[in-house]
Amino acid sequence: MTMFNRHPDPRSGLVIDTHELGRRVGAMKEIQRVAEAPEGIGMDVIGVPPGSPVDLDLRLESVVEGVLVTGTAEVSLQGQCARCLERIDSAEEVDLQELYLYPDKEPDDDEASRIEDELIDLEPLLRDTVVLDLPYTPVCRPDCAGLCPECGANLNADPDHAHDDRVDPRWAGLSGWAADPDDDNEQASQQAESKE
Ligand SMILES: [Zn+2]
Ligand SMILES: [Zn+2]
Repeated sequence: MTMFNRHPDPRSGLVIDTHELGRRVGAMKEIQRVAEAPEGIGMDVIGVPPGSPVDLDLRLESVVEGVLVTGTAEVSLQGQCARCLERIDSAEEVDLQELYLYPDKEPDDDEASRIEDELIDLEPLLRDTVVLDLPYTPVCRPDCAGLCPECGANLNADPDHAHDDRVDPRWAGLSGWAADPDDDNEQASQQAESKE
């Protein structure tokens, strides 16, 4: 899990103060809170709206090397269905698990998530976990029927939608001519005349 090189902001709902937990191995603390989603979790097609609620249900456990965080985060998702282009509004619950090392533990491990000034910043973990969980091609529902390839009609709204009168483009001009009943009659009478 990559650490962002920035100082955790104690005012952010995604920053957790471990002071109360202490460093006694085995100490435990449960945290339920609603934080605000930061900017830029997700992709263009689907993502977490900035400022939307992030429902955290976490357990902090003091271990020898640091603090183990486990739990869940529920986020809102907004996007566009890749098949029918309708707007998607949904929620997603992700499992969080990460060990945050004390500053003095394994100092050579650059990749490790760390506790800084007794604070844990959950944002990088939340960001990485949610993005990994996002669908590559989001759909409004698993059986979304998509759009009619010919006219773009939404097939979810009109399951029987079909183009029965599909004609070979080479004959399109002819069928238009035949569709006019007057022309038909004329043609018929002309043929009748020519037979005589
Ligand atoms: Zn759809
Ligand atoms: Zn159509």
